[in-house]
Amino acid sequence: MNKQLEIVLKPVLKENIWGGSRLVSEFHYPQGETDKISGIGECWGISAHPNGDCEVAEGPYQGMKLSELYAAHRELFGNLKSPVFPLLVKIIDAADKLSIQVHPNDEYAKEHENGSLGKTECWYVMDAPEGAELVIGHNAKTRQELIDMVQAGRYEELIRRVPVKKGDFAQIVPGTVHAITEGLLILETQQSSDVTYRVYDYGRLMDGKPRKLHVKQSLDVINVPDETGKEGLIHAQELSENEMHSLVDCAYYSVWKLNVSGEFETQQDQPFLLLSVIEGAGKLGERELKRGDHMILPCGFGKIRLSGQMECILSAPKEA
Ligand code: ZN
Repeated sequence: MNKQLEIVLKPVLKENIWGGSRLVSEFHYPQGETDKISGIGECWGISAHPNGDCEVAEGPYQGMKLSELYAAHRELFGNLKSPVFPLLVKIIDAADKLSIQVHPNDEYAKEHENGSLGKTECWYVMDAPEGAELVIGHNAKTRQELIDMVQAGRYEELIRRVPVKKGDFAQIVPGTVHAITEGLLILETQQSSDVTYRVYDYGRLMDGKPRKLHVKQSLDVINVPDETGKEGLIHAQELSENEMHSLVDCAYYSVWKLNVSGEFETQQDQPFLLLSVIEGAGKLGERELKRGDHMILPCGFGKIRLSGQMECILSAPKEA
């Protein structure tokens, strides 16, 4: 196979009631349709999902949507069998807290959500204010206790709060109650799915009305007892340089942290590799890279030469 070049995409920004202004002010992501500066909660950096299908920004496939490229040139993606591009990488800027939510697994989503994928996701904390906490897991011991607590609105007792710092990492499996809280900046790697069941929204109003809750679906899919480990976090602050450190390896994806200092070389031996720069700056070959850049290193990319001083999150798909 000929040497393939990196695939650079135009990110898609999303407006959310809890969104902040950092994606525009700090990352300088182009705003596309929206002229808003604040209230931008998400940057979908690598996505072929119908709710935010990134366009190829340059090169021979310029102008194609990632979903089209995946359909027409599967060889670039290691001839993966998945009918849809399986992963989605986004940066989340939470100026306010997100609703407490839960995602279904593949089986439940297929049956109840029009054949959609379920959602396993993971978070790398890019920034966190002093004293920040994530919601991961719950305290109900039985399903009846879960139902009683939800019906009585005893959410503060139900949810598990975990202290979190910049550089922490969490894997969120389907059925896990979770929420990102205010002030956090997170890089999320996930199955390409947009199915979220809102358990509780703190009584917030949007356009004068509370957002819809999905209590029945939530109670169907929440794992009881909770399956999250004691803490539910990996601390990835002190990692050696120029080495791929595995953060998670599950049925859907592998995710690594890489701290480049000087020069680092490796081989692209995955169906494809997703690269996001989360701190610092450097180069991929001759291409300048900066914080917030996302790209796909396709099958046939060959040798990866990274240089500079930068922190990267990489991921690759897995197939059953
Ligand atoms: Zn989620």
